[in-house]
Amino acid sequence: SLSYISPGAPIDLMFWVLADQEQIFRDLAKILKFRYCTVANPHVQPISKEEEEKSLDVMPEPVDPRRLQPRAPVVAIMGHVDHGKTTLLDHLRHSRVVDGEFGGITQHIGAFSVALTNASSPPSKQSVDQELFSRVTFLDTPGHAAFKAMRSRGAHATDIVVLVVDACEGVLEQTAESIRMIKEAKTEMVVAVNKIDKPNADVKATLESLASAGVLVTEMKGHIPAVPISALKGTNVDQLVEVLIQKARELDLTAEYDSQVEGKVIESSVDKGLGKIATVLITRGTLKKKDFLVCGLSRAKVKVLIDDLGNRVDQAVPSQAVKVSGWKELPGAGDHVYGVKSEKRAHEVITWREKQEKKVKELLDAEEIQKSREEAQEQYEEYRIQKLKAGVRKPKYMRHDFQVRRKEVEEYSGPPKVSFVIKADVDGSLEAIMNCLDLYTNEDVVLDLLDFGVGEVTENDIVLAKQFDGFIFAFNTPPITPARLKIALDNDVPVKEHNIIYKLVDDLKQEIGGRLPPLE
Ligand code: GDP
Repeated sequence: SLSYISPGAPIDLMFWVLADQEQIFRDLAKILKFRYCTVANPHVQPISKEEEEKSLDVMPEPVDPRRLQPRAPVVAIMGHVDHGKTTLLDHLRHSRVVDGEFGGITQHIGAFSVALTNASSPPSKQSVDQELFSRVTFLDTPGHAAFKAMRSRGAHATDIVVLVVDACEGVLEQTAESIRMIKEAKTEMVVAVNKIDKPNADVKATLESLASAGVLVTEMKGHIPAVPISALKGTNVDQLVEVLIQKARELDLTAEYDSQVEGKVIESSVDKGLGKIATVLITRGTLKKKDFLVCGLSRAKVKVLIDDLGNRVDQAVPSQAVKVSGWKELPGAGDHVYGVKSEKRAHEVITWREKQEKKVKELLDAEEIQKSREEAQEQYEEYRIQKLKAGVRKPKYMRHDFQVRRKEVEEYSGPPKVSFVIKADVDGSLEAIMNCLDLYTNEDVVLDLLDFGVGEVTENDIVLAKQFDGFIFAFNTPPITPARLKIALDNDVPVKEHNIIYKLVDDLKQEIGGRLPPLE
């Protein structure tokens, strides 16, 4: 996966580490400040029950191929701004309620499930297999954020991405960016050519522009299905769902329904009535009430399960997303969730993880390491300045397509805001920074994270920050190009480059401090 490493980044050494537990990689990555770290366990030997009891962290049970059953595909929607992602999600969500098995009102929980119209009658026990084959789970947040959240730590739970392309505009900047991300993640793709109801829609030209961007659809003798739709009118949206289900069958998506529970947190929040809640996308096993879960440094005894229609349910199966209450701490988005057998075991795991965290922190605080990190930063600074000195290109024109959000700014009357965009080198650092942000959220100042992502600072980031009078944090990313730096300077958008997290956090604290109301 060399393509992950930013071009121009200084690499001195590449090596492999083999270990028996994922945590070891994370600890190493933190201490050694890896630019890139991936975790794979191709040949892990199943361990005995006794060994598992002895091991202190959770070990996922080995998969038993005989118990695998089909599961619904998990689908994210991506594409250029204004090409119709939100409209498509709205239509899908709405059609679900209209055809409604339960006639409820959809709740935003981060994901929702859609059944084929002709298969939307409540499943009987006998038709359960059929039912498993006729559903699709859609991640509810359009755009990169959802996809990225599901991809953190190299393991991603998105099976298929629907790439929405406007039939009047063809492939634009963020379409190309999405294609690159989908290919990098080796995720399946289905194209939705949208807005075919418009008089100037040109499906053929759109497919040609996709071909030029490296996406060959079946009509162009490629392998990627494309469905012409109108998200606004609902034309062919059913057909799109059918294509997704067909694709899921080809991919032979399966999971065990009766094994240890595993899942991923899509989002988490604090609810007035229910307390700390997290939406968990189940990837394995069946989650039930009263189950014990661990997630990062949090644990839960599952109190309430709520589905995407707001109904309280007794269980959730693989590829289903449910809101889970009963957490001691708020779990982080993207974190892995594991089922454990007892409260005692959950406590044991968390205690062990806390101890590990403390050990790592002590190591990180050690003077020697600080010193070598500072040296590394100095070297990086020098390298960056050299890069900056090398040639200045003409800045491109900027686009202004954030009028809607601009209006939000004008109408806003809450506490002062610190608005910013975060760009980082890898998902791991992004996640680490986001975790820090939680610590600095308070009532007097709102931390307004406009966007975040992996990769270098782009013009889009600058335009977005500008609209909100914000700034950009760039963590360990390749140095900003002189042309972009000029745009940033011209627009008064500070681009704050850091490669040590605590320095970034210090910087953020200063920004917060600067906006706090004076003490009375
Ligand atoms: P997003 O930025 O990709 O989420 O795009 P939106 O879903 O917000 O759509 C942008 C604009 O395009 C909105 O004004 C929609 O009403 C419009 N739009 C979306 N889909 C269609 C469509 O199929 N036909 C037409 N005519 N307009 C559409």
